[in-house]
Amino acid sequence: MALKGLDIFKLIPKTHSNCKECGFPTCMAFSMKVAQGGAEITKCPYVEADVLEKIAESTAPPMKSLAVKLGADEGKIGGETVLFRHEKTFVSKTLYAFTLNASDSDEAIDAAIKQNVSVDYTRIGERMYAEFAHVSSPDGTNLTPLAVKAAALGRGVIVSTRNYDAAKSAVAAIADSKPILNGADKDNFEQFSALATEHGILLGVNAPNLEEMYELVEKLEKLGNKNLVLTVDTGNIKTAYEMVVQIRRTALMGGDRVFGYPTIVNVAGLTGGDPALQSALASLFTVKYGSILLLDKMDYATALPLYGLRQNLFTDPQKPMRQEVGIYPMNKGAENDPCFVTVDFALTYFVVSAELERSGVPLNLLICDAGGYSVLTSWAAGKFSASSIAKFVTEEVESKIKSRTLVLPGKVAVLKGELEAKLPDWKILVGPNEAVALVKYARELVGA
Ligand code: SF4
Repeated sequence: MALKGLDIFKLIPKTHSNCKECGFPTCMAFSMKVAQGGAEITKCPYVEADVLEKIAESTAPPMKSLAVKLGADEGKIGGETVLFRHEKTFVSKTLYAFTLNASDSDEAIDAAIKQNVSVDYTRIGERMYAEFAHVSSPDGTNLTPLAVKAAALGRGVIVSTRNYDAAKSAVAAIADSKPILNGADKDNFEQFSALATEHGILLGVNAPNLEEMYELVEKLEKLGNKNLVLTVDTGNIKTAYEMVVQIRRTALMGGDRVFGYPTIVNVAGLTGGDPALQSALASLFTVKYGSILLLDKMDYATALPLYGLRQNLFTDPQKPMRQEVGIYPMNKGAENDPCFVTVDFALTYFVVSAELERSGVPLNLLICDAGGYSVLTSWAAGKFSASSIAKFVTEEVESKIKSRTLVLPGKVAVLKGELEAKLPDWKILVGPNEAVALVKYARELVGA
């Protein structure tokens, strides 16, 4: 049963009461935070080992959070605490894999790799690409050379096979890449579990229905393996949907930790190669509740709507997406080039900066602290005002920039008079209402 803040407080030794070493002002404040899942009990150095274990177990999230290696980077899957994003937030975004089939010719595999890795771009500060290469050889044929090829792509690798010898060889060949070994089933789970444990890698658990999946996970846990990912690979859309939803509901609402693991959904196995169906199902299983989706391929037609959906879904609704406050020179802008000011809402920054960059005019984009809101919202809330802009300009800008030309967003033209009074040395101009008009405006401003 989950421990409450007061229960945890009683378990903390009183020898160093309120010493603040945990980063909280009192033992009680710390205990409350631990009970809410907002702090780890290990932050208090005075809790004894057996108590530590008891508290950690009872305050652990209902779903395990597991690290995955993505080439030189590290990612995270699982750790979710809510069924619906509006309840709190989702924490680990869905990751995507493109599939390389060992039965294909070398030419076809090389062409698939070239096409899949070509999808790689940045949207609102986030890299959008398929985080995994999924190598598949159900009977193990040609698995190792394909796994080696996939590991060289600098992203995560998922190795899918039911053949133990092939799995052993492939995993050993790319051990440094820490692949996910996907293929444990009711017949091979002991060998696969030992292999995954030996290499310290995640094990994908395969079963055709919920009952068998539950039994298999229990058996693997009895073997001491809790680094598991539950693979939904049914070949049937309805069954796959039911499984992935029931796994999540059982863990989060039922508190049953046997299903408290992230999931892999084999979307490619549901689409029959239909790219439109792949897009639809990838969206469905991003919303509900795939941790990793195995896709046939990643192309721009799939990626653009899918990554937009993912970015919206896995953004904390309680935290505005913000761009760091500061001076951003564009087109080699220097100290004598004009300044354009706007807010720190990430979307505003990316739209405005893209247009200013497109103008080719050297200038400085000033990002003000506006609480992470859009221009009109922050102005209405008093967070983007003549006072806040003037404060930012005098404290952060004037010592670094010699230009005294400042362009306001057209939507807050009303600030011009007050800003002129607060910044008498500056020439205050009013830019266009819409970002799309910035290219023409910037060029005309400098006579380009
Ligand atoms: S470190 Fe431990 S003893 Fe010190 S204030 Fe935090 S909870 Fe209390």
